[in-house]
Amino acid sequence: MDASSSDSKYHVVLFPFMSKGHTIPLLHLARLLLRRRNFIVTVFTTSGNHSFIANSLSDTTAFIIDLPFPQNVPQIPAGVESTDKLPSISFFAPFALSTKLMQPDFEKAIETLPRVNFMVSDGFLWWTLDSAIKFGFPRLVFFGMSIYSTCLSRAVVEHRLLFGPESDDELITLPQFPWIKVTRNDFDSTFRDSEPSGPHFEFNIKAITAAINSYGTIVNSFYELEATFADYWNKENGNEAWFVGPLCLADAPRVEHEPRKKPTWIKWLDQKLEQGRSVLYVAFGSQVDISPQQVKEIAIGLKKSKVNFLWVMKAKDPEFGDESELQESIGDGGIIVREWVDQREILIHQSVNGFLSHCGWNSVLESICAGVPILAWPMMAEQPLNARMVVEEIKVGLRVETCNGSVRGFVKWEGLKKMVEELMEGETGKEVRKNAEEYGEIARKAMEEGSGSSWRNLDVLVNELCTPRN
Ligand code: UDP
Repeated sequence: MDASSSDSKYHVVLFPFMSKGHTIPLLHLARLLLRRRNFIVTVFTTSGNHSFIANSLSDTTAFIIDLPFPQNVPQIPAGVESTDKLPSISFFAPFALSTKLMQPDFEKAIETLPRVNFMVSDGFLWWTLDSAIKFGFPRLVFFGMSIYSTCLSRAVVEHRLLFGPESDDELITLPQFPWIKVTRNDFDSTFRDSEPSGPHFEFNIKAITAAINSYGTIVNSFYELEATFADYWNKENGNEAWFVGPLCLADAPRVEHEPRKKPTWIKWLDQKLEQGRSVLYVAFGSQVDISPQQVKEIAIGLKKSKVNFLWVMKAKDPEFGDESELQESIGDGGIIVREWVDQREILIHQSVNGFLSHCGWNSVLESICAGVPILAWPMMAEQPLNARMVVEEIKVGLRVETCNGSVRGFVKWEGLKKMVEELMEGETGKEVRKNAEEYGEIARKAMEEGSGSSWRNLDVLVNELCTPRN
């Protein structure tokens, strides 16, 4: 392959981390790149993630390469059997560190491929930078977070705000962003070590160093949504952030119009159309585990709020007695789905009026793009920061009331019911819905081919990386 001839193909390698929330946006990016003439895209993954990626990209020409996970190697930490899927959040650091064991096979595969113009790899796969340097192509890092959360996380680390005399719920002002107040509870302690220089520290140093030394950062967001933070980041960091999203708008969800082929939950939503926009969509992403007591409380709160609701649970969510007991407890107004759904298809349905969400960054963007306001219930990782952004910064949502007032406490049914009613019917609900619709419109403009800010950013980046240098 010769990148300098007009008929040449440019080759991009994508390497997502092995979780749905990190993989899905890079698959959207694959589509955006493939839409350009002369691009080939290779996606690296593991065998356990192959079918999800292959299904998602089945209508494209993307190549997928599975990397094996070495067996019987002494460096594999106890409890990590493969790099297919994080066994549980408490294994995050050993799991992420184990991904480096795939490096020899990754490099063997790269040797056999056409010349790579650039790679976008997840921030957790820090070691891919070394491979990129070895083979002489640029690596862009993908964190899957808003730049708002990235800036706030960086600020608390720089000012050592995670350690101090304040209680975990006391508000702390961030010197760089004096209008923003956070608490220590906004930062997930699962990702911190109990002792200095523990595995999280080791991992964070590797990931941050590799990110700083990479060509730039790909951000799944649009400039207009977080301009203050985008400007701040690009002024303070050598490593430029490229806003190329919302990537969920790179392709439309596959909506089935033939009634007999529609999933049951879409048929249910269709039936609710005669009541107008009356449905609350409830989902907490692909990672969060919810206690049985909390599931029970949610069921009571939703039933008492008398809204129609569609609740998507992970297959592994704790059983609430048996299935019929759970269905009975929620009454006739709602349905529970325990399958993988196309969340975007649900959010754009004309019956949906609100989203009770854990505030994973993809969910936030998908909700904004659908013009649906959020009832924020952050649980882990950077979700509490996303919730702050949603409620306090861009004002596209409200927050559930926890019973101890902490950002991540237990939610009693009374607090849930009150806020569900406010989101669906209250005055503040109307305000945040209007804001969500407005941002949704700006998001679509940002992705418009030729003129949108995100489209142009990707164009500039691609030209910069694929123009032959003399
Ligand atoms: N998702 C989906 N169907 C499901 C569950 C999740 O399409 O049944 C998608 C959702 O649309 C989003 C991603 O999975 O794109 C979840 O990412 P997010 O950042 O919201 O949360 P995470 O799962 O990483 O906590």
